[in-house]
Amino acid sequence: GRVRLVVANWKLHHTHLEAIAFLERLWHLLDVEDYRRAEIAICPAFTALRSAQLTIETDGMPYRLGAQDVFWEPSGAYTGEVSVPMLAKLDVKYVIVGHSERRRLFGETDDVVAKKAAAVASGGLVPIVCVGEVAEERAGGTTEAVLERQLDTVLTTYPVEALGELVIAYEPVWAIGSGTPATPEDAEHVARFLRDRLARRASEAVAARVRILYGGSVDVGNAVAFLAQADIDGLLVGGASLDPERFAQLLGGRP
Ligand code: 13P
Repeated sequence: GRVRLVVANWKLHHTHLEAIAFLERLWHLLDVEDYRRAEIAICPAFTALRSAQLTIETDGMPYRLGAQDVFWEPSGAYTGEVSVPMLAKLDVKYVIVGHSERRRLFGETDDVVAKKAAAVASGGLVPIVCVGEVAEERAGGTTEAVLERQLDTVLTTYPVEALGELVIAYEPVWAIGSGTPATPEDAEHVARFLRDRLARRASEAVAARVRILYGGSVDVGNAVAFLAQADIDGLLVGGASLDPERFAQLLGGRP
């Protein structure tokens, strides 16, 4: 079976000092049972990655480290960018790619997202590829066409041998930070749709291995209901991942 994955996307929050304090507190709050329930990944800002790496290593914490973005070239004249080999050196395992905020605020197209996802996989890391429709697309009945386009563009250039490790996050844009999540049933329907698409575009074997997460106003009160869905293998959590008490409650399934 697929190992569940719960990812904290801190976005533009927490300095490196706050990241250390968060990790120490979460480590204190969770117990062995919580770690059996799901793999836990923390995605801080780039500036906090080194501190998080050292904190996790020093205390032997069972947390994976993730980044929120990356550039596709390994090195060169690209002022301001960060590369996959640089992240690999920091023991980063996951990289969020194509988050709707990157698409909307920073102009990332499907092609840019595909290049980044391929670079992450080729570098031995695991991309968490975000897909999702905006409210107008949902209202217009084009949700599936949008998701299909977003997913297919990534699959076209993705290294075949790494397909099984791929993580997809379904984040309906209207549900992000809105306090209005998708219903678990609607999210499951979309996850099923994405898995069927993977089966057709890649293979049944790949479709059975790829982990599909839900994200968008996930919180203590609804996390369990999403995780109970057959095709939802984990969560991508924004606001509810910032406070260690709240995130620990969410991870422990203790509403
Ligand atoms: P919220 O959990 O704050 O809605 O954010 C979701 C998200 O965008 C995670 O990547």
